[in-house]
Amino acid sequence: MKLLKELCETYGAPGFEDRIREIYRREMAPLVDRIETDGIGNVIAIKEGSTDSPVKVMVAGHMDEIGFVVKHVDDNGFLRLSPLGGFDAKTLIAKRVCVRASSGEDLIGMIGSKPTHIMTPEDRKKMPTVPELFVDVGLDGPAARETIEIGDSVTLHQSFSQNGNRVTCKSMDNRVSIYTLIEATKRIDNPNVSAYLVATSQEEVGLRGAMTASHRIEPDCGIAIDVTLACDTPGAKPDEQISALGGGVAIKVHDSSSISCPQLVRFCRELARAKDIPFQMEVLTRGGTDAGGIQRGGSAVPAITLSVPCRYVHTVVETVDVPDLQATIDLLVEFLNRAHEVDLSY
Ligand SMILES: [Zn+2]
Repeated sequence: MKLLKELCETYGAPGFEDRIREIYRREMAPLVDRIETDGIGNVIAIKEGSTDSPVKVMVAGHMDEIGFVVKHVDDNGFLRLSPLGGFDAKTLIAKRVCVRASSGEDLIGMIGSKPTHIMTPEDRKKMPTVPELFVDVGLDGPAARETIEIGDSVTLHQSFSQNGNRVTCKSMDNRVSIYTLIEATKRIDNPNVSAYLVATSQEEVGLRGAMTASHRIEPDCGIAIDVTLACDTPGAKPDEQISALGGGVAIKVHDSSSISCPQLVRFCRELARAKDIPFQMEVLTRGGTDAGGIQRGGSAVPAITLSVPCRYVHTVVETVDVPDLQATIDLLVEFLNRAHEVDLSY
């Protein structure tokens, strides 16, 4: 779990994924034939097939995590934020953040709030909103303005922990996918498939990297690896669970960004059954993945998502089950070993 810990604890807001790019290139360089980087920051690791016309498969995992940029530094040194991605503001109160300051420093700050002691009954009923939040980096106005520029990126700050089979950190969404791509690449060797393993940028702001990568690669089919909601917790009804921790990799039927190619859904389910890989089916009514970007790229691409179930998505305590992650890697490897066999004709 050392690599997953490093990936999760590293900062990479949408559009500011440079540190994740470095890790991905470092890990992929010994495993693939070549690595390309495009103009939006996607890193494409390519393992070529060796037959006459290998099937081109694009696999996407997004590097970015929900984050912010600084939009204002006030006279007292407090920062205001512009969000990059979907936040529930009440999960942000009293959290630590990292401001990647233009001065070159990583400044650990905190999201402050009014103490309960001085809240009015009205204050208590109100839900916080992102524009009202402020970050305190412990600097006064002049010092903050000297160190921090408008547009510097900000992410949540959290350390990784493990309890038995469960691992918890910020950014499990979606560093589990970067981990999956790297671990799967160590095990694939199918001369009939050229694998394009893409660490995508800017997924959290609208699947932007996946779309441009798919245009560039023009794959025959594509798979996005991402987390999905595991609402197997108190307060959610059985029909609202989406997925459950410990139930295996989730094979997505649809979400609000894509309807998975039915032939790929069948193929993945058959592979999982044949290889005894634990799996669950996933229907997600709201949310999207890079599969939506892949599908609309190239000249229209059959695509699917394989998901890692995750509790508390888009908070600093995103939690996944290690055997589920292993099942996701296993199914991706099986897919890449057999992808030349699937009939994708409509
Ligand atoms: Zn994600």
